[in-house]
Amino acid sequence: MTPRTRQFASDNCAGICPEAWAAMAEANHGHVRSYGDDEWTAKAADMMREIFETQCEVYFLFNGTSANALAVSSLCQSYHSAICHEVSHLETDECGAPEFFSNGVKILTVDTPDGRVTPESIERLVSRRTDIHFPKPRMVSITNATEVGTVYTPEQVTAISRTSRKLGLHLHMDGARLSNAIATLGCKPRQVTWDAGVDVLSFGGAKNGLAAGEAVIFFNTALAHEFDYRCKQAGQLCSKMRFLAAPWVGLLQSGAWLRNAQHANAMAERLEKALAVIPGIRVMFPREANAVFAFMPPAARQKVLDKGWSFYTFIGHGGSRLMCAWDTTKEDVDAFAADIAEAMNGV
Ligand SMILES: *Cc1c(COP(=O)(O)O)cnc(C)c1O
Repeated sequence: MTPRTRQFASDNCAGICPEAWAAMAEANHGHVRSYGDDEWTAKAADMMREIFETQCEVYFLFNGTSANALAVSSLCQSYHSAICHEVSHLETDECGAPEFFSNGVKILTVDTPDGRVTPESIERLVSRRTDIHFPKPRMVSITNATEVGTVYTPEQVTAISRTSRKLGLHLHMDGARLSNAIATLGCKPRQVTWDAGVDVLSFGGAKNGLAAGEAVIFFNTALAHEFDYRCKQAGQLCSKMRFLAAPWVGLLQSGAWLRNAQHANAMAERLEKALAVIPGIRVMFPREANAVFAFMPPAARQKVLDKGWSFYTFIGHGGSRLMCAWDTTKEDVDAFAADIAEAMNGV
C-alpha cells in the first residue's frame, strides 16, 4: 500500500492554507482584548461586510454544526419546524444539534433531485398540515454548494426565497462550501445570498483553508437579536477570538477564499473528466463544485481502497464521494484516476 499525502475523503482533511497560517502568526504578538473585543475580530467582520457588500451582523464560531444549530434556534421557537433536504448536513450530520439547541424544533425534509430543495416541495410540505397539532413551519435551510456537489444559482435561491416569504418562512443558507459555489457561478457573493433573499448564512472557512471556523452572518439583522448570548451559552464564544478571526482576515483579504475554491473545483473537474472515459463508472450527480460522486462496482471500489486511497461511501445516496481540496494537485488527481481505471479493468 502506498502512503498518500493527500486524499479524496474530505476537504476538511486538508491543512491550513498559507494565507491563513501567516495571519495567525501575525496575530500572535502581545496581549489583546479577549472574547472578540479585539482589532482582528473587528477587521474580519468588516472584511465580511466588504465582500458581501452590506451592513450584516457577523459572528465567528468554531464549526459548522454550531453555526447551523444556533441559526435554527435564533429563527424558530421550540414549537416550529424547519424545512431542509433529506441529505442535508443539518438533518444527517449534526447529531440532533439543531433540534437540541432550539429546544425541540422539528426538522422536515424534502426529497428532491440533485440535493436541491425546490419551491414546489416547500409549498407541498407547508400546505400538507396547517392545524395546531403539527409544528408550524418557520424556516427553510438550503445548502450551497449542496451535500451532493451541486450548486444553487441566484435565480433558484430567489425562487425559494419568494416562496418562503409568501409562506412566512425565514431562509437560511448552509454555506459550508459557499466559496466553491461562488467560484462556479462566477457571481458576486451578494447575488447568491442576500440579493436572492437569504436571511442568515453559515459561511464555512474550515473546508476552504482555515484550521477552524464558521461565520454566522445575519443579512436580516433583526434576527441577530441576542445571538451573542446563544453563542456564549453554547460554548461557541472563543476567548482568544483573535486566533479564530485573524485567519479569516488572511483568507478574505488575500482573495485566497475564492482562489482556493476555484482550485478545488478545477481539480474536481479534472477528476470528473478522467472518470468519464473509464467504462463502467457512472457519475451520479452533476459535478458543479469540488466533489465528484461516482458509482463504481463494489469489487473495484475495494481495490481502490486497497491501494491506500480514502474516500467516503456513506454520503447522500451511496456511491463514492470524491472530494477535492484547496491543496489537491493535478498529480494527485491523475494518480487517483489511473488507479481507479486499473481497478475497473478487472471487473
Ligand atoms: C462540513 C459541513 C458543515 C460543518 O460541519 P462541522 O464539522 O460541524 O464543522 C456544515 N454543513 C455542510 C454541508 C458541511 O459539509
